[in-house]
Order: sequence, then structure tokens, then C-alpha cells
Amino acid sequence: MPGGMKVTFHGVRGSTPCDGPQLARYGGNTSCVAVEVPGQAPIVFDLGTGLRNFGLALLEQEQADDFHGTVLLSHLHWDHVQGLPFFGPLHRPGATLDVYGPRQDEGPLGEVFAGMMQPPYFPITPEQLEGTVQFHDVGDDDFPVSTTAKVRSRWIRHVGPTLGYRLEWQGISIAYLSDHGQGCVGTMSRAGLARDRTDDFVPTDVLDLCDGVDLLIHDAQHTPAEFEAKRHWGHCTVDYAVHVAKEAGVQKLALFHHDPAHGDDQIDLLVQAALDTSDRIGGGEVVAASEGLALEFATPHAAELGDPA
Ligand SMILES: [Zn+2]
Ligand SMILES: [Zn+2]
Repeated sequence: MPGGMKVTFHGVRGSTPCDGPQLARYGGNTSCVAVEVPGQAPIVFDLGTGLRNFGLALLEQEQADDFHGTVLLSHLHWDHVQGLPFFGPLHRPGATLDVYGPRQDEGPLGEVFAGMMQPPYFPITPEQLEGTVQFHDVGDDDFPVSTTAKVRSRWIRHVGPTLGYRLEWQGISIAYLSDHGQGCVGTMSRAGLARDRTDDFVPTDVLDLCDGVDLLIHDAQHTPAEFEAKRHWGHCTVDYAVHVAKEAGVQKLALFHHDPAHGDDQIDLLVQAALDTSDRIGGGEVVAASEGLALEFATPHAAELGDPA
């Protein structure tokens, strides 16, 4: 990937880590996606249990010493935060991790996070890790991270304060909306209620985050029947993810945050149906995120300089 970007899915499951032979291909770890470009500190979407495997990969590649990285945290639900203390590089002095995440009503993000990572819930606090974790409160913001990356964060509809992100780096764009509820969800985040909207309504902020991105990583938790029973959970249907991708002109959609009740065979069927729908409505490519899947993107100018065929 000379000059390009690698996106590796280390955790793709929603709600809770889970295990079993029926989940072996897509995986049972919760939300964590690493974005890497050569020679620069990595950027990670969410701190779910998949973060542990990213740490193991860095140790294997001997890149765990003197680690520096950035995290774009969507929200504070368990399936997005539990991996932090199990990230190997943070158990070495000199490591730094900058965590950008949703501003909380209860106080600074770092203090609120430490509220659930302290005895008796967990043996140590973030401050007791060998490395240094710094928290940054964000909302509807645009800010630089790492050395050359641009980030846009916007409130999206879920249960509690939740951010979606757009990352632009090396000429490649990614949007990450891991937990995103469509329609009239009961308890909403700061993105506001849309009581008068239909279930296929796509907010302007969501279109703004996803506009023409090379890769959209989007909530795909429910079938239509599950959504009807659980619409107050703040997630969406696979069809809604395909609809957002089409409306925003997305190149490639990765279905993400799979329901723990969905086995590999069911996800195969869901992704096939999503591909058919996308074809029918003139949308882009669709894949289902799976643990260990790595997607590589060439920088636009590198592609132009490459094989003219
Ligand atoms: Zn979640
Ligand atoms: Zn959530």
C-alpha cells in the first residue's frame, strides 16, 4: 500500500462480545477499526473489545514500543469502551493515546470515562496505565488529528450522546457511524428528535459526514422485523444503511455492528440482500465487515501514476 491507507476491522459486533461456532467467520469482538498509513501514528475508531487484537498485532509487528495513536470514540456504551485497558501498547511507559469523544452533560469526558473504569468496576483507572491517555471533548466540530488527517464530528441519532465521524487522510475519506437509529427513536442524542420524519429520512449532518466517501462503515444491526420490535434501541436496518450509502454517493459500504443473535449464515443472507438492493437502486459496493478484514485504498494521485490500464 505505498502511500495508501489500510483499514482493519478488529471488532465488528454490536451490543456485547459473543462467541460460538455460529459466529466464527464474522467474529464476536465489539467495535474497533484501525486506520493506518505508512509512517504515521494510527487512528482508531472506537475502543471495543477488538482493540485488544489491534494491540497484539502491533506487538507482533514490533510497533508497540513508544506507541502514539488517536482514537475517535463514538459514544460511551460498553461495546465501544471495554477494550481500553486490554490494549497492550498502553502498558508500556512513553505510550500516548489521544481519545476524542462526545461531550457529556455529567462533566469532562475523561472524568466520565474514569467513572466506569475504576474500582469496584475495574481494578485500575485510565491514569494508572503505564502510558498516557488524554481525553478531548468534541461535538459538532472540525479538527486535525495525527499529523495530516482532518476529522469532522457530528451528533447522530442513537440512545445518549453519540458522534458520527468523517476522516480525510492521504486523499481518502472514511465515514464511521457505528450506532445510528433511523426514524422516530424514543430517547435521542443531541442530534435531536425527528418525530415528523419517516424511517428512511437521512439527516443533513449524516449526508455531510458520508458525502462521496470511499468507505462508509455503518450500523446494520436489524432486519425490518427486529427493527419494529427494537426501534427504541437506536439502531437501524441493513436496508437503511444501503439507503444512506446511496443518498450520499458512497463508493463502498461496510455493514457493521452486527447483532449478536445473527450467525454467519444469516449475515451472509443479509449482505446478499443488501447487494441486491444496492444494485436495484443504483448504489455502490457493499461488504459485511468481519473480524480481521483489511481494506486497502490507494491515494488518488498514486492511482493516477500507476498502471494506465
Ligand atoms: Zn454499539
Ligand atoms: Zn450504543
